[in-house]
Amino acid sequence: MDLALSEEQRDVRRLAEDFVAREVAPHVVAWDRAEEVDRGIVKKLGAVGFLGLTIPEEYGGSGGDHLSYCLVTEELGRGDSSVRGIVSVSLGLVAKTIASWGSEEQKRSWLPRLASGDALGCFGLTEPGTGSDAGNLSTRAVRDGGDYVIDGAKMFITNGTWADVVLLFARTGDAPGHKGVSAFLVPTDTPGLTRRTIHGKLGLRGQATAELALEGVRVPASALLGPEGKGFSVAMSALAKGRMSVAAGCVGIAQAALDAAVRYAGEREQFGRPIASYQLVQELLSDIAVDVDAARLLTWRVADLVDRGEEFATAASQAKLFASEAAVRSANNALQVFGGYGYIDEYPVGKLLRDARVMTLYEGTSQIQKLIIGRALTGVSAF
Ligand code: FAD
Repeated sequence: MDLALSEEQRDVRRLAEDFVAREVAPHVVAWDRAEEVDRGIVKKLGAVGFLGLTIPEEYGGSGGDHLSYCLVTEELGRGDSSVRGIVSVSLGLVAKTIASWGSEEQKRSWLPRLASGDALGCFGLTEPGTGSDAGNLSTRAVRDGGDYVIDGAKMFITNGTWADVVLLFARTGDAPGHKGVSAFLVPTDTPGLTRRTIHGKLGLRGQATAELALEGVRVPASALLGPEGKGFSVAMSALAKGRMSVAAGCVGIAQAALDAAVRYAGEREQFGRPIASYQLVQELLSDIAVDVDAARLLTWRVADLVDRGEEFATAASQAKLFASEAAVRSANNALQVFGGYGYIDEYPVGKLLRDARVMTLYEGTSQIQKLIIGRALTGVSAF
């Protein structure tokens, strides 16, 4: 693995840094307090090329590599995880999955719009009754002539209230467990699909997270993504790459925590000296720094495996597990450096901790990542 970034990769990282400084950083506190990121950010993310970064050029993307994607995701996560999540879901979970599993017609219909930000995607797997045990979902799609009619509910759907299309997982036929699951592309203006914003989140407050209800939602058979009954494989392939993106976002959180804590430790004086001069404060800083580098290296390894076309799913679980736990630890350590000021939202570290916390929960909790890694090590599924 070559750790030296190419000229293009350095350029794309600089582009993301500039974007965050200009379009995100000035608004972070206000968006968090208002519980809503300015929706205009979607078009801006599209215009700068981030929503189509790894989509092939023939479908309106930039055809970029996955390390570049991680660099952009890290910078967005460093700026605001709510903004980072818009890209991770619409590009990482939805557009990439259409690019991998879609028919030519589905790719032509959705990818250029998703890449430009004219349309936004969301990923509808989790339900009120099934989270970790996703293969056991109960939303049902019944064949009716040339259509499917879908009934059910989805929970905690990132981008949910803003999205134009939901990559939706539903049970078709009578096959048991995950074998009976199929994937569909459902435009969110289809009659019978309603959305409700979930308020009161601990973190990612600016993000449009929704509950979806589906009552008699009729879609043509051409909405099926991948073969009928293969939906669980579609979901798992999406989530493996998604975990790389979450991990990169966590590196961004941890890096932001480090930058803020080092700066503050140099400025804040107690007992007549900057707190940076105390060994116990330096311990907090050095713990964050090691977590940042270790999380980044694990994440870059996944990008390297993806770009070389090698198996990456277990490495993605390792990176997501470590980086998410490291982001929580790092934000918490940074908050300790800030003392009481870390506890109010005029300072950045409290939000970093709140935003980091969900990273150990979604796209597979830390326990689920350990079961994936354990299964790869032993050949025995302990789910
Ligand atoms: P549960 O599965 O009920 O888990 C509860 C606890 O039990 C956890 O600690 C878990 O680790 C543990 N547990 C469960 N099974 C086992 C086991 N076999 N062994 C050991 N421990 C176990 N979902 C989507 O589909 N799309 C999205 O865009 C999306 N965005 C989200 C955004 C936010 C802000 C949040 C909070 C969630 C989002 N999710 C999304 C849902 C997320 O993926 C689920 O919350 C997650 O998979 C966990 O499911 P659950 O909440 O039902 O917890």
